[in-house]
Amino acid sequence: MTSSDTDELLSKVPASAPGVVLIDLDCIADNWRSLRDVVSPAQCGAVVKADAYGLGVRYVMPALYEAGCQTFFVATLAEADDVRALASDATIYLLDGLMLDGATAVADSGALPVLSSIDEIEDWAGLAGARNTTLPCAIHVDSGLNRLGLSADDVLSLSQRADLVERLDLRLVMSHLACADEADHPKNAEQRQRFVHLAGLLPNAPMSLAASDGVMLGPDFHFDLARPGYAIYGGQAFCDRRTPVDAALRVFVRVLQVRNVVPGATVGYSATYSPSRPARIATLATGYADGYFRHLSAASGEIGGTCIVRGYPVPVVGRVSMDLITVDITDVPKPAVARGDWAEVVGPKQSIEAMGKAAGTIGYEVLTRLGARAHRIYIDRKGARSDK
Ligand SMILES: *Cc1c(COP(=O)(O)O)cnc(C)c1O
Repeated sequence: MTSSDTDELLSKVPASAPGVVLIDLDCIADNWRSLRDVVSPAQCGAVVKADAYGLGVRYVMPALYEAGCQTFFVATLAEADDVRALASDATIYLLDGLMLDGATAVADSGALPVLSSIDEIEDWAGLAGARNTTLPCAIHVDSGLNRLGLSADDVLSLSQRADLVERLDLRLVMSHLACADEADHPKNAEQRQRFVHLAGLLPNAPMSLAASDGVMLGPDFHFDLARPGYAIYGGQAFCDRRTPVDAALRVFVRVLQVRNVVPGATVGYSATYSPSRPARIATLATGYADGYFRHLSAASGEIGGTCIVRGYPVPVVGRVSMDLITVDITDVPKPAVARGDWAEVVGPKQSIEAMGKAAGTIGYEVLTRLGARAHRIYIDRKGARSDK
């Protein structure tokens, strides 16, 4: 997207919109292809939980499907139903597995549950028995994250339960890494070894270990199917090297007002900021209710968040409030910043990782929370579509 394209798109946003999120679907598709190439000959799926990390599964999912992705991972049954409605023949894994008494609804949805305990396996095998059939599923074994998954003891006892195993149509054995963002972390090799050992005790099935960061750990971690999420959306999860993906979104918010503030006066709640020189302060239409984290407030003497105003980085001053932030634009050259201008909150000069770091969190959280009240524009080769 060139800057004149961007200006053109921004000029068409309804005047009432406080902000706009531009989502590049071709970029998302390219990112997925790029990850697919990294893990080849293993297969590459896509994690589209949480509304495709907040970017809109209704738009993202068809782009990935068209790019050739056949296997999708979601967290909840409602998400599985959304994906199913978009691609009737896709393989959909349900990472949360079976809720108590939830097996029938999952079976009827056509999603494949990722079973993480003997209880869940008993429910699934029980339903299969009642229907006099086998039912397709994945099994999650815990290799050291201690979050979900069968323990080593569970795997051993399952391997002795022919009554359960014979009712499972096992499509995937998976596990999840704790420290894959750090290439040299000793836990990576430990978890890999435990995964291989535990999978060996189960019926033969394709194996999956790597999320976005694990993809970058190299072929030893790719097994049969990789399941990246964040990297598809342009996120850099891996610390040691750049993942070959590009940022897929830009977020702009409106300048509502520009004012002069003299030394001695204060800006925002709790009067945490007072300029040391006559300052120009712009008030922008975004706040913590829009995913602009309150931790991006500038603590006294420290820098908080940064926005880009007409190509120049400007600091957040004072507290972030629910709907508004204040930025110091004193040093932005003329022509003067004015009401109605756009300020860039996320973009090429302001990554979601940088924002996450400044807010004491990670890019993932920034991505999944951004832009609840913003206008959305989805861009691809065919043009631009507005949502909302
Ligand atoms: C969310 C999730 C993923 C995707 O992780 P990313 O870091 O976004 O690539 C993969 N596997 C499991 C089990 C997950 O919960």
